[in-house]
Formats: sequence, C-alpha cells, structure tokens
Amino acid sequence: MTQAQFETDSLIRAIPQASIIVGPGERILAANEPATKLFGQECVGRHYITALRQPALLDAIEAVFRGADHKVTRFLGRETDHDTSYSVTVAMILVNGGRGVMMTFEDQTAIETAEKMRRDFVANVSHELKTPLTAMLGFLETLRGPAKDDEKARSRFLSIMESEAERMSSLVNDLLSLSKVEEKERIRPLETVDLIGVITSTIRALGPVAEAAHVVLEADFKTPQVTLQADERQLQQVLSNLISNALKYGASGGRVDVIVTAEAYVPQIRGRGVRIDVRDYGEGIEEHHIPRLTERFYRVDTHRSREVGGTGLGLAIVKHIVNRHRGRLRVVSQPGEGTTFTVILPFD
Ligand code: ADP
Repeated sequence: MTQAQFETDSLIRAIPQASIIVGPGERILAANEPATKLFGQECVGRHYITALRQPALLDAIEAVFRGADHKVTRFLGRETDHDTSYSVTVAMILVNGGRGVMMTFEDQTAIETAEKMRRDFVANVSHELKTPLTAMLGFLETLRGPAKDDEKARSRFLSIMESEAERMSSLVNDLLSLSKVEEKERIRPLETVDLIGVITSTIRALGPVAEAAHVVLEADFKTPQVTLQADERQLQQVLSNLISNALKYGASGGRVDVIVTAEAYVPQIRGRGVRIDVRDYGEGIEEHHIPRLTERFYRVDTHRSREVGGTGLGLAIVKHIVNRHRGRLRVVSQPGEGTTFTVILPFD
C-alpha cells in the first residue's frame, strides 16, 4: 500500500457512515467497513459502474466527474432481513493528484418509517372522524327535508346524532390523552400513589356500567397496601380502560375480577413488583390478534368496537402509560374462556 492509499484508507475508516472514494481513474480506491457491508469487500479496485449499479447513484457520480461540485441522491439497500433507504451525498475531492469522488450514505430508513407512521395516523384519524360526521350530516339533511314534520323520526334521528357526537367526542378525548401521555413518556412520575385506593375508586365509578352489563365486578387484594411512585390520573386511566374493555368485550362471562398481588421478584422487571390482573370470562381473543392489540386503531372487530363506543385507542394509551412507569403489559387469552390483561409495575 502506498502512502497516499494509506492516508485515504485511514481517513475513510474514521467516518461512521458508509463511505466510498472513487479515484481519478474511475475505480474505487477505498471503502470503509459499513460500505463493504453494502457492496461487498471486493468492490475496492473495481470500476464504480460495475460495483455500485443503481442508475441514480451512477448519474450523480458521473455528474460530479463532469464538473458538478456535489450531488445528493437516493440509494435503496437490500440488507438480508429488511430494505433500507439511504440519502447519498456525492462530492468532488482531490485525490492522487486528480479529480475524484467521495460518497457518504446516510441511513434514512428510521426517518421514513416514522413519516409513514405519521401519515397513516392522520389518515386513520380523518377516517374515524369522517364516518360519524357523514352520518350526522345525512341525518341533518333528512331532518330539514323529508322528516321535517315527523315527530317520531325526529326524536330517533336526534338520538342517533347524539351517539355519533359522543363517539367523536370520545375519539378526540382519547387522542388528547394519547398525545399527553406521549409527551410525558420520558418524564418519571413522582407522585406517591395508593394503588389499592385508585383501584377501589375506579371500580366504584364503573359500578353502574357493570350493573347495566349484568356483570359482577370485584376486586381481590392479595396485598392490603401498595404505595407506588406513579402518576395517579394515569394509573386510573389504565385501570379504567382495562376494566371497561373487560365489561365491553367480556360481559358474556358474567364476571370481571381485578386481582392485585405484590411479588418479591418479578422476572419481567427484574425486581420487586405489583401485579394487577384484570380478568374476564368472556369470548376471549384469538392468539394472532394479541401482539397487535396495543397498536393505535387496531380492533379485533371494528363494527363491534364502534357499537360499544370504542375508539381503538384505549390499549395504545395503556401501553404508553405502563411504559412510562417502567412496567410491563401482558395479555393471556383463551378463546371461549376469557382474557386476562396483566400490568406489572415496579415498586420498592
Ligand atoms: P376499543 O376502543 O376498540 O375498545 P382498545 O384499544 O381498548 O380499543 O382495544 C382494542 C381491541 O382489543 C378492541 O377493539 C377489542 O377487539 C379487543 N379487546 C380489548 N379488550 C378485550 C377483552 N377484554 N376481551 C376481548 N377483546 C378485547
């Protein structure tokens, strides 16, 4: 290796992104380790056209060789288990006494995935709002026109419109909760909270809902006293969402139990923890849905969820709150027998 080669090599090795230098003879002079992962060890020494192949990248290199100062282009990588997308800066450099090209590859995959998630989210929210709005506009038109003097139809339509408006209102409330929870996700909760008290008051508040669904809702405190460092309102929301779901989707089982157990060592959090099981004896959830339940707007049965006033955001909110408390959420379900949602929270 000549002194000049040694210098280009050591320089390029210091760059963390995949980088390649093409010499005045249009052959690849040096490639650092991330670049050889993309193009193979044997790319060094080859003509850049045979080594790099993708037309957009080749055009950019050619333009720089012909006089452009630099170009930015995209390169699509195909790693073994996933596709990656790079933004490549191709710049003119002086190397070995002539005009050469240096390119650096910046991995944009994570940014592009986040952008896609954001676009999907906006599309989902718009769709969720559009359905009740369209229904309401339709009823309004009917009330103005054909049903103007029909007293019975009017009261029926108004009550449908009311429930559509309620649906939009709970969607907006859940969206606001989700954004608040996300905002606070990195801030440690500091309040001292009496967990048993929170559960007792949540169960009391949901009593009428349980009664209307003909469900016996009971708590079983295996530990009489649990004091946690937590966010009280958020814990209340976790319990309220999980118990409401059990009442909404598991009512056919006729009972819902909330069981609280303190454990000296919980493997999932590698320490002392409190385990809250919300158990129903309803229809259960098929295995393949379980990993996706906490995704925003994921529902096993969309029609059913809408019918019972669901927004598809309840479990997404639960997951974020549990994460903020450094806890774990687990779901075990047996179709036909029921479901248990378990929240494990660390406490000392
Ligand atoms: P939703 O507002 O639709 O209830 P969630 O995020 O709270 O949204 O729940 C997502 C989906 O998970 C629900 O639509 C329902 O299909 C399913 N699910 C949640 N809890 C239960 C349960 N206890 N039993 C059966 N299915 C459930």
